[in-house]
Amino acid sequence: MKAFVMKEIGQVGLVEKPMPQPGPLDAVVRTTAALICTSDSHTVKGGIGPRENLTLGHEAVGTVHEVGSEVKDFRRGDRVLVGAITPDWGDLASQNGYPAQSGGPLGGFKFANSKDGVFAEYFHVNEADANLAKIPDTVSDEMAVYCADMLSTGFMGAENGDIPIGGTVAVLAQGPVGLMATAGAKLRGAGLVIGVESVPSRQELARAYGADEIVDFTKEDVVERVLELTQGQGVDTAIEALGANVTFQTAVKITKPGGTISNTGYYGEGEFVNIPRVEWGVGMADKTIATGLCPGGRLRMERLLRILEAKRLDPTQMTTHTFSFDDMERAFEVADKKLEDVVKVLITF
Ligand SMILES: [Zn+2]
Repeated sequence: MKAFVMKEIGQVGLVEKPMPQPGPLDAVVRTTAALICTSDSHTVKGGIGPRENLTLGHEAVGTVHEVGSEVKDFRRGDRVLVGAITPDWGDLASQNGYPAQSGGPLGGFKFANSKDGVFAEYFHVNEADANLAKIPDTVSDEMAVYCADMLSTGFMGAENGDIPIGGTVAVLAQGPVGLMATAGAKLRGAGLVIGVESVPSRQELARAYGADEIVDFTKEDVVERVLELTQGQGVDTAIEALGANVTFQTAVKITKPGGTISNTGYYGEGEFVNIPRVEWGVGMADKTIATGLCPGGRLRMERLLRILEAKRLDPTQMTTHTFSFDDMERAFEVADKKLEDVVKVLITF
């Protein structure tokens, strides 16, 4: 089968690989649609260390090709979504309520990390009954594939942010995860959602997904403007959706005492992330910093699919580019170099 791999740090390409085989609890899925993620670029740049011929990608849907002998609820031909994070559900971290951390810190992140990812004609899924979800007939592949990471991570930003109904929220950066955090904040009942973003097309999407106000950091001071919009109080929840030291610091500064800084960002460089001492109330301002990795698993995916089935949200507005798998090298270049105002690149198989 064909697979799109990271040959070594900084080098990608299409190669031939053998078909994966399922263990007794596992499944092999034939890929029908996938999305390229910013973290695929982080990985190719060496973010998780060196890898050799590792298949990239962690956002995909497909049809079940083969299941192991112990799989109960899925059979060949089922249309399925698989979360970007595929935990080991029997692990102690899972039993403790943190399945994304099963098998060690961030251990649920297996695709394109500790095993081959989904940019291939077929891919392997561990613990199929716990990690696959059937896609309802009324939900297209393109809609469903957004649940794997974008909805799951973005909504986590809102959920971990503990947003009060009618509360105030700022979402720092309106990339695809930030956009889904914006949508999540609206779904959670925020009374004011502020989107921080400078790119006009992303500002427009932010408004479409529920931002009431846009703050352009290239034109105004974000801290001043957010304080102005909240009568000097700061927001109940600041969601960091970029993964940069400066944005994280802004998030701490604009959060009111008692509020929550909810992080979804991936900090790909530097030794430290700094907390601004004074605005942190010298460590005593009752500001909570919440962190998390994209939640995975069947229950999570079924809930996200229900949001799409009920037409609460249309994530496909984020698809700016579509390529066939044969054009994967060009597709990756567009996503990696952020060409042509790209937001999300859809791959069809
Ligand atoms: Zn992703």
